[in-house]
Amino acid sequence: MVIEATNIHTAQPQPRCEYGKTPFSEGECQRMGEVLQSDGSLLCVGHAKLMRLEAQEDTMLGTVFEMDKWLDEPNNQANNLCWRRKLRHRDETVERLRFNRTLIEAHEEASQQR
Ligand SMILES: [Zn+2]
Repeated sequence: MVIEATNIHTAQPQPRCEYGKTPFSEGECQRMGEVLQSDGSLLCVGHAKLMRLEAQEDTMLGTVFEMDKWLDEPNNQANNLCWRRKLRHRDETVERLRFNRTLIEAHEEASQQR
């Protein structure tokens, strides 16, 4: 009798992507967990990228919020050159945010079409 060696590998459960996993339910994603996150969870490559995009979005939203506050200050508006430079920087960040959002949406659409 010959024992097939191929079963040895499948006997070990592959770690699954933990995206969407809560204490009450398993994650939605069936792909393999390959990228270790800073909070210790394991995600597939696609979801790791999505998480990174969302983190970037959070950071940029915070930046825009701070810049809007600064731009609203009458004291800051007095320094016209500085104010314009800040406004341009703000607009650029909003542009990057929009681009980031389209990437996130593309990810979400891709994962829904499975
Ligand atoms: Zn995943």
